[in-house]
Amino acid sequence: MIKLKNVSKIYYNKGVIGTGFSKVSLEFNIGEFIAIIGESGSGKSTLLNVISGLDTYEEGEMYINGEETSHYNEEDFEEYRRKYVANIFQGFNLVNSYTVRQNVELVLLIHGIKSKDAKEKVDQIIKDVGLWEYRNKRVSKLSGGQKQRVAIARALAKETPIIVADEPTGNLDQESSKQIIELLHKISKNKLVIVVTHNYEDIEKYVTRVIRMHDGKVVEDKNVKEYKAGTLESTEHFKMSFASKVKLAFRNSFNIVGKLLLILGVFIMCVSGILTNIGGQIKGKYDTLNQGISFIFSNQNPKRIIIRHKDATQITKDEYENILKLSTVEEIVHNDIKLDSVISLYREEDDTYIDATVNNIEYLDAKIYKGRMPKEENEVVLMANEDDFFIKLFANDFLDKDIYPIDDRYNEYNIPIKIVGIAKTKEVSMNYKIYGSDNLNEKLSDINSIKYGSAIITINGHVHNNSDEDILILSEKVPKGSIYLREEYESECDKNSCLNTNVKVNVKNIYTDRTEDFKVTNIINKKNLKSLLDMSDYDDLYGYVFMNIDDYNRLNNTDDYQSSVIVKNVDQVDKTVGDLEKMGFQVLAIKNSVDFNSSDLSKIINLFNIIGSLISFVVLYFISYFVIFLVLKSRNTYFAVIRILGGTVKVCRELINLELFIQSTISFAIVLVLGYLFKFNIIRFDIMSGFMEYLKWYHFVIGYIMTIIMSQLIARRFSKKIFKDSMITTYNMEV
Ligand code: ADP
Ligand code: MG
Repeated sequence: MIKLKNVSKIYYNKGVIGTGFSKVSLEFNIGEFIAIIGESGSGKSTLLNVISGLDTYEEGEMYINGEETSHYNEEDFEEYRRKYVANIFQGFNLVNSYTVRQNVELVLLIHGIKSKDAKEKVDQIIKDVGLWEYRNKRVSKLSGGQKQRVAIARALAKETPIIVADEPTGNLDQESSKQIIELLHKISKNKLVIVVTHNYEDIEKYVTRVIRMHDGKVVEDKNVKEYKAGTLESTEHFKMSFASKVKLAFRNSFNIVGKLLLILGVFIMCVSGILTNIGGQIKGKYDTLNQGISFIFSNQNPKRIIIRHKDATQITKDEYENILKLSTVEEIVHNDIKLDSVISLYREEDDTYIDATVNNIEYLDAKIYKGRMPKEENEVVLMANEDDFFIKLFANDFLDKDIYPIDDRYNEYNIPIKIVGIAKTKEVSMNYKIYGSDNLNEKLSDINSIKYGSAIITINGHVHNNSDEDILILSEKVPKGSIYLREEYESECDKNSCLNTNVKVNVKNIYTDRTEDFKVTNIINKKNLKSLLDMSDYDDLYGYVFMNIDDYNRLNNTDDYQSSVIVKNVDQVDKTVGDLEKMGFQVLAIKNSVDFNSSDLSKIINLFNIIGSLISFVVLYFISYFVIFLVLKSRNTYFAVIRILGGTVKVCRELINLELFIQSTISFAIVLVLGYLFKFNIIRFDIMSGFMEYLKWYHFVIGYIMTIIMSQLIARRFSKKIFKDSMITTYNMEV
C-alpha cells in the first residue's frame, strides 16, 4: 500500500520558503474511497501530487508496498506513475486538439500497446463512459462534463490500482458533477480512489474515509464505511513502440493547421535559405567566369559549348540535326564567331562608339528599364551593367537614333541600327551586349568575319606575309576573281609586268585557312587610282593589294566550321560534352575553359563563401529556433500530459525530434517541388530559377542533410528548455 511517514513538502521560491504540507503521516489501502476536504490552500493538491509521484517531497518517507521512495529519481517516479497511478484534474488536462478516441488511445500507446490492439479497448471504454457518439469529436468541442468523462476514460484505460482526482467536479454544473461522481464510483472497485472535493455532500454516500486538512496538516482522518481491502498490484506495461511514436509524431505534426503552417513556413525559409546559399555560391563562380577571365571568348555563357571537326571540315546539316535531337540542347549558334566578335556602333554627331557583342533577342534575360522591346528588324536592345556610368548619362542620346556599325578598318556599313530599349544586368563584362533579330545578327556577323585575319600574298614566288589589314584593301570596284596590284610590285614579275599573271591569296584566321588564285587585271598607279577605285592619297596606299570584298569574305568565311551548342541548363553541360564527343566533334565547354578554382583569389573567395554560409546558417538557426520555440511552447501542456500519463522525458524528446523531422522533410519536399516549377518556368520566379539551374542532385542531398541537422538541433534545444523544470512546475505554469 501507500504509506506516508512524517512527510513534508517545502517550496523554495526565490529565497522564500513555503510549506505545501508538513509532517503528514497517512496510510492508504486498495479498496478505499477517500475524500480529502479542507479550505483552499490547506495543502490538498500538494498532497495528491506527492502521492501521485508528480511532485517530490523534502522530508519524511513515502513507502510503496513497503519500499522507500526518498531515493527515487525522476525515472523511478516515471515508472511508478506508469504502473500505479491515474490522475484526474479539475482542469481536465486533455489534449484538446485530439479527438476523444485519440486521447484515450494516447494512454495505451504510451503504455506500449500497439495501436491496432488498442482500438477495441478504446472503443469499449468510450462506450462505458457514455461518449460513444462523440468518439471522433475533438475534445476542445466538448462540454466540461464530457471532458471529465474523457479524463475518466483515460484513467480507466490506464488500468492502474490508484486513481487520484483533484477537484474533478470543480468546473462542472450540478448535474454533470453527479454523473462524474457516479462514474468515479463505478470504476472504483478494487482500486484506491482519492478525491479532493469542495462538495463533500455529492460524494458522501460512496466515501469510506474522510481526511480533513488545515494549514498543511491533517486535522481529521476518519473511516466512515467498511470496505473490502485488496492488494496493490502494478499494471502490466511495455516500452512504447517506435511505430506508435511515429504515429503520434505524424498526428502532432498535422493536427493544428495554424501551427503546422507556421512551422512549415519557417522550415521552408530555412531550406530555401540553404539552397539559395549553395546555388548562389555556384552561380557566383559562373558569374566570375562571365566577367571576362578568358580573353579568347568574349561570350562566356556557361551554357555554351564550342564544337568543330578536328580537321576543320564543315559541319554538315545532318550533324546539326542530330545535335538538335539531344534533349539537353536549347539551340545551335552557327558560325559562332559572332558570339565572340565585338561590333562597334558609331554615332557621327558626337563621334562616340559603343563596342558590343551581338546576341539573339530571344535570350535576353533582363528587364528593360528604358524604352521597349524591338519590333522592327533593325531594332535592338542594349544591355549594360547596372552601374555603367556612360549609359546612365547618355542613354537618351542613343535611344531611337540610327547608328552604324564599323569594322576594324573604320569602314562604316550602311546597316542602320536603332537602339530602342536599354536593359540592366548585374554581370560585369568587357563589352556591352546588343540583342537583335536573327537577320540583323547575320548581317552583323558578316562584318565581323572580316576581322582577325592574316593574309599571305604570293606574287610570282615572292611571299608577302602580313596581317590582312596591312596589305589588303577591299573594294567593290575590283571585279570578282580579280586582283589589282600597285605598280611597285611590277618588279617581282617576269619582264617587270604583272598584268594577267596569277597571284595566290591565302587568308588565315583562328578558324580557317584558305588559298585561291586571282588574276591581276589592273596595275594601280597615281593616274588610274581615282577612276578605277575611287580613291585618292596615292602615297598612303603604298604596298597595298586590292581585292573584291565578296572574294575576301568567301576566303575568310568561317560558316559552319565552328559552331556553338547552347544547352538548356548549366548542369547539362558535362553530359552534353560527352554526347558531342561521341559524335566525333572537338569540344570545348566555356564553363570548363576557365580554370578559376586554382587561383589564389578564388581560394579567398571560397573561404569567404564558406564563412558567409556558416553565418547565414547560424542566423537561420536562431530565427527558426525562436519562431519554432514560440509555436511549440504551447505544447508544454501536451508534454506535461504525456508525462502525467506515464510517458518518459525520453519519449517526449523523441516525439519532438520526430515531429520536427517530419515537418522539415515536408518543407524540403515543398521547396523541391516549387524549385522544379521555377526551374522549368511553370511558375516564373527569376531569382529562384536562376539558382535552381546551378544545383545538382547532391546539392539537394547536402541541403536536406543541413535542414535535418538544423531541425534536430532546434528539437534538442527545445527539449532542454522545456524539460529543465520538473514536470509539475511546467504543468502548474500552464494550467
Ligand atoms: P489546496 O490544493 O489545498 O488549495 P495547495 O496544495 O495548492 O492547496 O497549496 C498548499 C500551499 O502550498 C499553499 O500555501 C500554496 O501557496 C503553497 N504552494 C502550492 N504550490 C506552490 C508552488 N509551486 N510554490 C510555492 N508555494 C506553493
Ligand atoms: Mg488545490
